[in-house]
Amino acid sequence: MEKSVNGTQVVYLDYNATAPLRPEALKATCGALQAVGNASSIHQHGRDAARKVDQARRQLADLLNCSSGELIFTSGATEANNLALHAAYTPSRSIITSAVEHPAVLETAKALVDAGQGTLITLPVDSEGRIDQDSLLTALHEYDAPLVSIMLANNETGVITDLAPVIKAAHAAGAMVHTDATQFVGRLPLDLSNLEIDLLSLSAHKFGGPQGVGALFIRRGTPLPQRPLVFGGGHERGWRAGTLNVPGIVGLGAAAEAAHRLLDDEIPRITKLRDLLENELLERIPGSHVNGSRARRLPGVSSITVPGAPADALLASMPDVAASDGSACSAGAPSPSHVLLAMGLSRDAADSTIRFSLGHATTEQEIIRAVEATVRAASQVRAVMDATAGS
Ligand code: PMP
Repeated sequence: MEKSVNGTQVVYLDYNATAPLRPEALKATCGALQAVGNASSIHQHGRDAARKVDQARRQLADLLNCSSGELIFTSGATEANNLALHAAYTPSRSIITSAVEHPAVLETAKALVDAGQGTLITLPVDSEGRIDQDSLLTALHEYDAPLVSIMLANNETGVITDLAPVIKAAHAAGAMVHTDATQFVGRLPLDLSNLEIDLLSLSAHKFGGPQGVGALFIRRGTPLPQRPLVFGGGHERGWRAGTLNVPGIVGLGAAAEAAHRLLDDEIPRITKLRDLLENELLERIPGSHVNGSRARRLPGVSSITVPGAPADALLASMPDVAASDGSACSAGAPSPSHVLLAMGLSRDAADSTIRFSLGHATTEQEIIRAVEATVRAASQVRAVMDATAGS
């Protein structure tokens, strides 16, 4: 995925912000854009559109090993998270979540407990970014919390939560469990027949589908009151009104199908490229380190701290690499990453951290170029910082 800026090819390593469209998704979306038809209309055009939506729902259900009747299409993971928490929250009671959640969960949970006069419990993580299971047990014991929302994979570090014990403990306490699986779906296999999660959010643009479309999985039989956020014509079985985004949904389905078919080959290939990038950077940039559990991580993510080199200066010195200085959603905001701070990094270290995220279209050639650019930028920025400090 290369783009030319001022005559230089830019290496795209920001898949956690948004992944490039998979060719299958591009083709399917463009085909659907050329067709006319509202999926709710009863004439031939409408029925054709509805058939395409049904097929996409099946493709996504196949990827997740769930039933297509358990999936509600939304405008993305932000909406899916909002819908899940809004429907599952009971005023004056508590929500248990974690300190490293995406703002789409943290801010939603805060707004709900503020309005409902409940309590928000944010579980700490250890230095590897893992949820502290003991603090979950304590919170379930101490608070009246019918809802637990813990992410499956972190957007900044790629660290994966061991959800099975979380679900077991929450269910034993009578709580419902939601997971924000936005960074996990389509990157690693997920079998919802084996994971007793009640609610799960996902987004197409993280796994090679178009932006602006996602889904909420609601397990059949989950006692969830139907509290939509958007009222209208009763689409999506009353859960989410509004004319269906047929081209987006078709693209999501095609991306899900491609991911399902290709993941077995992609995972080892992407892991190898990520390890190449990481090992080269750690070896060639003195003092640099990786954030998060290296054992339980998404294959394509690397969060690297380069002490003494602020991330904004580093990224500005390597314009031929598109990486991130935190999550894209908070990029531009002056505050340091809440995820890295929760893992115990100092503010300086958090501000000197860049995130590389790679995926289905990344090549070895691109990784080699990214390594050279980063090593060069790190020594340039450090030299400038040293000179400034000494002057
Ligand atoms: N949750 C996580 C973990 C994410 O990484 C993102 C995207 N940055 C979102 C939710 C929001 O997804 P969307 O862009 O589909 O609204």
